Amino acid sequence: MPTLTNEQITAIRTRLATPGLDADELREIAGILLADNDAQYSEADYWRESYRLVKGLSDEEINAMMAVRDAAKAHPRPCRFPHEVCLCGD
Ligand SMILES: [Zn+2]
Repeated sequence: MPTLTNEQITAIRTRLATPGLDADELREIAGILLADNDAQYSEADYWRESYRLVKGLSDEEINAMMAVRDAAKAHPRPCRFPHEVCLCGD
């Protein structure tokens, strides 16, 4: 499933900026965005698995890399990042 193009996203932004959208239109737009979200996750899974195979990593190793990357991000306060490697130092 292809993800939305920049033109399609711009068209959605334009539609959302239009006054008087009714519930059916909003439902349709939400459906488009949710489908795009699913497609983005599928793409991300595909590339993650490709990277894992090329690097010869186990699932545990790539999961640990992602956990460390997420832990090193700035977290909203108070930090509730659900991982023991969080680097916020609350
Ligand atoms: Zn944190």
